[in-house]
Amino acid sequence: MNFSQLGLSDDLVSAIDKSQYESPYPIQLETIPAILKGKDILGIAPTGSGKTAAYILPILQLYTQKDPPKGREIPVLILVPTRELAIQVEEVAKNFSNYLKKKTKTAAVYGGVSINPQMKGLSGTEILVATPGRLLDLIDKNALSLSHVKILVLDEADKVLAMGFREEVDLIL
Ligand code: AMP
Repeated sequence: MNFSQLGLSDDLVSAIDKSQYESPYPIQLETIPAILKGKDILGIAPTGSGKTAAYILPILQLYTQKDPPKGREIPVLILVPTRELAIQVEEVAKNFSNYLKKKTKTAAVYGGVSINPQMKGLSGTEILVATPGRLLDLIDKNALSLSHVKILVLDEADKVLAMGFREEVDLIL
């Protein structure tokens, strides 16, 4: 089975080739066709098994076909437990997007750094990767709106809860 058989566009398959992925990993085989069909997914796979691409690739396909959002209405939200994971996931999304004909605007927001540059960079963002606390701070400051979110990813959801973010996640949901 190759990536083009999973329902991904030629443009994305070419971006995947350029990223030197040869064939889909098991979690990608399971999730990509299902996400493209709009299904809700619960995925459990070990670290390093390719779960980021398993959700980023179909999301890029769904959102590269749309017009960019107006202002600060975010269509895709990816919640992550840590700053390190936020940076890593944004990098994966950007790497694929850079090879596509229509670029997808991605941003990562997380605590431990100044909030102002993050606020300024949000306009037109299609894929937002965020840690829960900083996301709520940005909502409090009216820097973004979640009222148009179409896709929500809880990456490392077990760790998000283990780190005590339950209340924040409930508020965000
Ligand atoms: P992740 O589990 O998402 O952190 O991915 C672990 C590593 O596997 C990353 O370096 C990815 O770039 C790489 N990777 C993910 N999917 C594939 C694939 N289908 N073929 C080759 N490398 C992959």
